[in-house]
This record gives sequence, structure tokens and C-alpha cells, in this order.
Amino acid sequence: MRSHLILAVIVAGACSLASCSKPATADDPKKESAPGPASTTRKYLLERVDDAAVVQIYADDFASMDVKTKALVWHLYQAAIAGRDIYYDQRSAAGLEMRDLIEGIVEHPGTTNAETLKEVQRYAKLFWLNSGPYNNLTARKFVLQCQPAAFAEAVHAAQTAGAAFFLQAGETLDQKLARLQPMFFNPDFAPSATSKTPKPGEDLLASSFNNLYAGVTTKDLAGFKEQYPLNSRLVKRNGALVEEVYRIGGRYDPQIRAIVGHLEAAVPLATEPMAQALRALIKWYQTGSPADRRAYDIAWVADKASPVDTINGFTEVYLDARGMKGGWEGLVFYVNQKKTESIQKLAGQAQWFEDRMPWDPRYRKPGVKGITANAIDVVVESGDSGPITPVGINLPNDESVREQFGSKSVSLSNVNEAYDKSTDPGFRSEFAWSPDEAARSEKWGGLAGELLTNMHEVIGHASGRVSESLKGTPQAAIKEFFSALEEARADLVGLYFIADPKIAELGLVPAADQDAIAQTEYEGYTRNAIIQLRRVRQGSQLEEDHMRNRQMIVRWLMANTKAIDTRTRDGKTFLVMTDAKAFREGVGRLLAEVQRVKSEGDLAGARKLFETYGIHFDPKLRDEVIARVDRLKLPAYTGFVMPDLVATTDSNGAVGDVKISYPQDLAKQMLAYSAMTKETRNAFLASEKR
Ligand SMILES: [Zn+2]
Repeated sequence: MRSHLILAVIVAGACSLASCSKPATADDPKKESAPGPASTTRKYLLERVDDAAVVQIYADDFASMDVKTKALVWHLYQAAIAGRDIYYDQRSAAGLEMRDLIEGIVEHPGTTNAETLKEVQRYAKLFWLNSGPYNNLTARKFVLQCQPAAFAEAVHAAQTAGAAFFLQAGETLDQKLARLQPMFFNPDFAPSATSKTPKPGEDLLASSFNNLYAGVTTKDLAGFKEQYPLNSRLVKRNGALVEEVYRIGGRYDPQIRAIVGHLEAAVPLATEPMAQALRALIKWYQTGSPADRRAYDIAWVADKASPVDTINGFTEVYLDARGMKGGWEGLVFYVNQKKTESIQKLAGQAQWFEDRMPWDPRYRKPGVKGITANAIDVVVESGDSGPITPVGINLPNDESVREQFGSKSVSLSNVNEAYDKSTDPGFRSEFAWSPDEAARSEKWGGLAGELLTNMHEVIGHASGRVSESLKGTPQAAIKEFFSALEEARADLVGLYFIADPKIAELGLVPAADQDAIAQTEYEGYTRNAIIQLRRVRQGSQLEEDHMRNRQMIVRWLMANTKAIDTRTRDGKTFLVMTDAKAFREGVGRLLAEVQRVKSEGDLAGARKLFETYGIHFDPKLRDEVIARVDRLKLPAYTGFVMPDLVATTDSNGAVGDVKISYPQDLAKQMLAYSAMTKETRNAFLASEKR
């Protein structure tokens, strides 16, 4: 499970000044390794594309690693890029072919007219940031804003200039263009990747145009037992349901073979616990079986001390309207030792927090086990986790593994840092009711946001247990509301304890400032409920689970406490947090209810919470927020450019040294990634029948 960037960009990310009170900035060791002008002048914000910001991530400690560790990271980095195309295909059946065409134009502009080229470049950047034609947050399709004829001309010009487009056997380039035209140009054709709350009479799966299902409706699933619920595409073929399993010899065979090749090269360089996890992962890629996936989860959780780690596989289920199928992702990261110390203080006290959770004692876990919390710096993220990245991750998702073996939590430090350094201060002033509120946010927002993210992951997701009377998992019972409910639960745990004296006792905040810090977090969380509406430019409902969770919490508090006022000034709406005590008391009550709903698998209870408070919003308010944001030219979301690694090989072909650099150029990096996987991509596309 992951906590998304959304809150961070408002709260943690609001702190973009050098005077930021975030603990690591005052004596940031990174500044020692890159002294003087290099650290103060390096670029974070690279460019703006429509409502997106493009930001460079830095991984400063990589350069000082020993050669063997660098080589390990190198092979894992290769494995992360090798699977990138899988996620494009999962998000849209046409995704890879569409990307092939637009990349051909960007790389070979040939005689393309300047206006068309400019539009294709804009579209290409959005396509790369969102890993396909659908917006990552709204799930809605964005389209090319030029004439189909002009686009076709540009494609032909690129071909003449040397672009080698993939063509299906027996299909001409013009036939391909005609086939893909509605995907590129018609916003009403296959309009949404994921539709978790379809219109009345519409089917959950039939109105979701991702590629996790083909020709399947919810009705078809009645009485069908999936053998590979997480890692298969479900297809209706000759009237029967077929699972196309993601594994060697199955769907995505070329990509998975490449991934496994790189993982095998990494094994001898890894620590023994990590090597065991990698071997288990390889086995899962070979068999695809849920038992091997579970064995991999267990081995991955058991590796708690390795300085380098990776997540590689079918993991998060947000793309699937049913919440079952895993989107592929690849992350490689190393532990940021300094920041990890403060997180481990939280993890060490997990049982203390568990014993004081404001919910029915029956749902408290007697032995909270195996929580590993690390602050990490990412070296690469791809697929479901890049270029748009989470700020915190807690895995595995399998509840039975979590209960027996624990879980691992990470907070993505260098992602947070890049947010901080690239965020516009206008976010604070425009939506804060008073200069005091804005000043508090400036002073404490970074610290409060980072703390909330840590508490969300470390003591939030890891907490609680299900009722003994619940048959099956809460996921299965709560269905499409599960992810949002679980995110709400983790946020509420953080909001509840951020005001507890224990946090100051642990040294995570100065005792004298704790009230101000909690107040800052409550104010920021409240403001976010309207600021986040800027991300949903059409319609009047939220789809993304973290957005639903945050909307639900704030609207519930507005309806059930006196903590929040709605005020207007100069035609602008403000949500003003006026009573921190009442806010916290309300959070405790709501958390008790959310935990009950999860523990009992109460689908009706979950539906009621989200239908009443979390999904629907007033489009007039949204329009107002968008007008305010547009006037300030504030971004709605951020995508990241990753570091580049280049390895030198010795005479035996083994990896010698690995150099890290920062391309500061989204297009250059995306084209380089696509070039690296061209062979496996074409092999995969050739095996697909269109
Ligand atoms: Zn989460």
C-alpha cells in the first residue's frame, strides 16, 4: 500500500524555503557531499506541462557506495526498467503502440510542421508522466489536440526520417493509424482507465478501459474462481473465462525473462537475506503461483537490514476497479541512515500505540510484529511507481502475511525533498484563511507532513486486526471501498497521535512546539479537501482512493464536529480548522468506526461513509478552486525524472564502476528507457492479436 503524493504536495511539499524546519535540512549531510553552489543551484523544477510539474530527483549517497553495492544497484536498476512496458500495456491495451508512434515523431521530427510537433511533444510528455493515455489521478483520457491528418503526416514524416514503427503482420502504417485514431483523438472513446463508481446501469469492469480484463463483465465472474487473482489478465474467449498468467511462458514473457536475467545477475552481489528474497521473486516470476508469491512476500519482509532493497513485481491494485489485479512496478532504493533513526523510534513503539488505539479493544493487535521502517532514497522508479511516485510505501499487501510476518514501511526521503524544493509557495497563501495560518504552514508544514507520512505507514497500516467472525479478508468483503477505507484508517492514526505527548517524548517534535505542529497538520489536512479538487477537472466525483479518503475524513469532521468552519472572502471559499481539540476528538471517533468497518468487513458501512462524505463533490466549488489555481499557475501533480546510471564493465564483462548522473530532461530519459526495451516490446506486440 502506498501513500500518495497528494497530501505531500500540499503539506510536506509546502515547505520549499531554505529556512524549512524539516530536521534534515539544517545540517543536511547531502550538502557536504555536494558543497557550495552545486547544492544551492541545482535544479529541481525542470518544466511545466499543462497541469503537471516535472521535477528531478537526486540520490546523493549513491556516489559514496562501494563498488559491489553499486553493481548490485545497477542490476536491479536494469530489472526495474526491463518491466516498464508491462505497466503501459496494463493501463491501456493500445498504450505501447501509441507510445511507439509519438516517440517516433519526437525522435525523428523530419519535416513535421512546427505546430503539430509542438502539440505531439506536449502530449508525449503527459503520456510519459502518466504511463499512457489516462491521467493518473482522474483515470480520464487526455487527447491529442491536432487534426488526425496532421498527426498522420507527422508519423509518415518520422518514418521517412528513419523511425522504425512496429507494425502487425499484414497491417500498413495507415491502417494502424486508423485503428488507433479514436484512442488518440476521441475523449468519449474508452474514456476512463478505472471506473470504481460507474453510472447507474453501467458495469464496473465494462466501463473501466484498462487492460486487466478483456471482454469481461462483473456478471461473468459469478461462480468463477481465479487461480491467479493478482497476476493475471482475465479474458473471455469463446464464451469462457481464461486467466492469462503474468509469468515466464505466460503473458509478458519477453519482459519477465529480461527482468529475471537482471535479478539473477544481482543475486551474488546481494546480502544473504536479500539474495533469498530475490531467488523467491525469480521463482514467482517462473511459476506465477500465489504460493510462490506468498513465499516471496515472506522472504522480502524477512530482509530487514540490507542497505539496498527493491520492489519488483505485480504489487498495488489501484488500477483495478475490483482491487484484485496488481499493476507492475519496479523500485530500487537504499537506506537513508540519518532519517531512518527518527522513523525507527516510531516503529519501536508500535505496541504502545496499538494499545492506545481509540477503537474497540477487540480490534487491537496483541503483538504488533516485524514493522521495519526505513527512510530511503530511490535510485529509480518505474511502472506503477514512476514517474509519478508515492511518498510512502507499506508492503506486502497480503493481510495474512502482514499478520503473521509483519510488513516493511519506507518513506521516500529524496522524493519528499524534491517536492519541497520544487513547490510553489502560492499553495500556502492562496488557501490559508489568515497570514498566521500561512506562516505556520511555512514554519512547520514540512516537518508535520513528513511525520504524518511516517505515522501513516509505520503505525497506521500496520495496526489493528480483523474480527474473529469475519470470513475471508476485509478486501474481499469491502470490495471497491477497501483501498480508500484502508488509506483513511492509516491517515486517521497519524492525525490522532500527532497531538499525543508521546511524539514529543520520543524526540520527534520539540515539546514546546507540538501544539503548533499538530494545529498546522490539521489546518493543512483541512485545506487539502478543497485544494485537491483541482485535480479533477471534469465530473463531480472522486475516483482516486487517497483523494476519497481525505475528502471523506474532512467532510465527516465537518458534519460531526465543530472543528471546521466554511468561510468566504472576496468570492473565495476557505475551509478553516478552528478547534484542534475538537478535530482530534472527532478523528478518534471516526477512526473507531473505520476500524470497526474494516474488522467486520462491513461493506454497507464503508459504502455509507464514502457515498456520504468521500466521493461526490460540488462542481461549482471545484470550478472556483481551479480558477484560483490557474491564476497562480499551480501544478495539479508532479512527475519525476530519475537519476541515470551508467556502468563500465571489466574485461570479463562484469560490472566495474557505476556512475550516477541527473539528466534533467524528461524526454531524453523516457526515450532512453524505451530504446532499452525495444526488443522485448516488439516481441510482445508481435505475440498479441489485434
Ligand atoms: Zn497508505
